[in-house]
Amino acid sequence: MPPATPKYFQQAMSPAAAPPPAAPKPKRPPLLRLELRDLSQPGAQSFLALVSAPTALEEAVAGVLSHLYRGLPPHCIPPTRSVTLVLRSMSGVAYTVGKDLDDDHKEIHFSTNYIAAVPEARRAQELLGVIRHEMVHCWQWSAKGTAPGGLIEGIADWVRLRSGLVPPHWKQEVDGDWDAGYQHTGYFLEYLEKRFGEGSVRRVNEALRERKYDEDMFWEDLFGEKVGKLWEDYGESFGKTKGEENGKKKGQTEGEEREEV
Ligand SMILES: [Zn+2]
Repeated sequence: MPPATPKYFQQAMSPAAAPPPAAPKPKRPPLLRLELRDLSQPGAQSFLALVSAPTALEEAVAGVLSHLYRGLPPHCIPPTRSVTLVLRSMSGVAYTVGKDLDDDHKEIHFSTNYIAAVPEARRAQELLGVIRHEMVHCWQWSAKGTAPGGLIEGIADWVRLRSGLVPPHWKQEVDGDWDAGYQHTGYFLEYLEKRFGEGSVRRVNEALRERKYDEDMFWEDLFGEKVGKLWEDYGESFGKTKGEENGKKKGQTEGEEREEV
């Protein structure tokens, strides 16, 4: 039982809006680790100079849990026990895996070659953005491995988008398939979040927790429509504001390919 608070104190409190709820906590706090395979790599040195690893990893966990599990009980959060960020020389950008013997222990592998190649002016922001994307993979559900890969990647980039870590090369596109992944699907999820209300993407992730993925039932249960229709609606809504969007994005066309798992 909390101690009784004197009534006059309650009355003296500010009537301003309540602060946002704190990030939900998993049943036990995850062990966070950093592994540097080669300190002579310029990318590794740059990481150490630009990023406080404890802060970046703790904030990534809190940010991901806040976006995917706010308002949900702890048993809805995956039982991830540790996350190790491994900086090493490799091709591509980054990927996340579970350890062979125990999938509750995750490893985020991040390429030091990639880090060194990002323009210095926005390197710190890109490091945080990639870590945030990969951290989602450590904490999201996947319908027991049956969810489309594009939806998994879309949720990861939606969290990155919502975290204010959008890189300049991202574009909102409505052509192609809804599950093409990454920011392509991430912006579609943002449309659903705005159309159906705050917490819509959280409901998508929660619906991937226990059942296997059945495309027709999945989207109709959540939003009353098949995903093809939702994707069409998204295209139409985008068409109405296309001129405006293009105007806003002019001059932000730096090309960059990313490769992640
Ligand atoms: Zn990914």
